[in-house]
Amino acid sequence: MSDCIFCKIVRGEIPSKKVFEDDDILAFNDITPQRPVHVLVIPKKHITSLATAAADDAPVLGKILAKANEIAVAQGSPDGFRVIINTGRVGNQEVPHLHAHIVGGPDPVGPMLKRI
Ligand code: 5GP
Ligand code: ZN
Repeated sequence: MSDCIFCKIVRGEIPSKKVFEDDDILAFNDITPQRPVHVLVIPKKHITSLATAAADDAPVLGKILAKANEIAVAQGSPDGFRVIINTGRVGNQEVPHLHAHIVGGPDPVGPMLKRI
């Protein structure tokens, strides 16, 4: 995806503060952190969202979750963290390249959602 901002980050065309990388996934600091630890973990392959992920994307999705604790601990969230994957319009997804937010830090991140 030539004009996708996260694909550009994967290709190094937009700078990012990388915190983990392997052949399949990339983790980098969110440009506008909402907690002391706020890392985005993405598949290097363009997948638009969880709504469009295919069955054969399961290994890379699993890898993102399986790496989350290691990334969180290394970045300063040793006692847990929250993973958020905003999806589509209703999920308020802003960047259409699937990404997991890992948010945390020394203190609890707070309630999951505002109650309706
Ligand atoms: P979403 O609302 O799609 O779940 O979250 C998109 C996230 O991407 C936001 O938290 C936003 O701060 C982050 N973001 C948007 N553009 C960039 C960028 O160019 N670099 C980095 N590191 N983060 C970005
Ligand atoms: Zn992309």
